[in-house]
Amino acid sequence: MSFCCEVELADPVAPAGAHVGVDLGIANSLATSTGELLHLPVISEREWARIGVLQSVVNRREKGSRNRDKAKRRLARYRHKLVRRKRDAIHQLTSRLTGEHPVIVAEHLRVANMTRSAKGSVEEPGVNVAQKSGLNRSILDQCWGETRRQLAYKSAWRGGHFEVVAPKNTSRSCPACGTVADENRESQAVFCCVACGHEAHADINAARNILQLGLAKLGLEVPVRPAGGTPEGALPGLDACAGPVALKAPERPAPSRKTRPRGRATKASHQRRHHGDGLTPETPPSGRGGSCSRRP
Ligand SMILES: [Zn+2]
Repeated sequence: MSFCCEVELADPVAPAGAHVGVDLGIANSLATSTGELLHLPVISEREWARIGVLQSVVNRREKGSRNRDKAKRRLARYRHKLVRRKRDAIHQLTSRLTGEHPVIVAEHLRVANMTRSAKGSVEEPGVNVAQKSGLNRSILDQCWGETRRQLAYKSAWRGGHFEVVAPKNTSRSCPACGTVADENRESQAVFCCVACGHEAHADINAARNILQLGLAKLGLEVPVRPAGGTPEGALPGLDACAGPVALKAPERPAPSRKTRPRGRATKASHQRRHHGDGLTPETPPSGRGGSCSRRP
């Protein structure tokens, strides 16, 4: 038996916090413009191995047999457990963000383009196929689409707003002086402006650029860029060296393969770390990291 009824809900009131930009990645599942680095639980090498074992048991059993059905169910249960773990972490993450920030801005990422197979054709076989397929798996493992979907509908529920912006130059431009250059991105984790010396964690810096783009798109107040390109004091809370957000030295296992994919994909060389159950927030330590020598 089922029945339904209509319930009048009060109009949701947008949360009182500050607007936030989020950068979705692999090394850090999500970086916020407020300086948080968050990790979703990903499937570890050990868990992938377990999936492989369970799958091989299914393959060995005779087709149509009861034992094969049993093995299939065991595999499905295990996969489902991993999916539930991830889903729970994403729900916790999106609930918190939409409960704290009235406007959330994220990048529009073309996951289908980014995860295209590198196999190539018989005449022109692709290069680094294994690396690319590993990268694809890490991108899909991060569930960017699901995170954005939840941010969108939960923002609407709670009276907030979710905005998507084009990802162009968000990882290469300086939020302090506006310079766009490949050289600004010193490494996977370090952003250091060649023009003004502004430095920050690269993902958090991208999240700030995303926030600026989103606010401009919505016609909301955007932090004013300083004249002359000096970052000091001009953008409150946006100077990495003064605020709680500072350089974060990457502490990750060395990439297992020598060749790195190009562009944004370099994040994936630090792929598939296991972070246990639930969400693992990481606060970058304060103080200068010291690896940027360009600051005047
Ligand atoms: Zn700059």
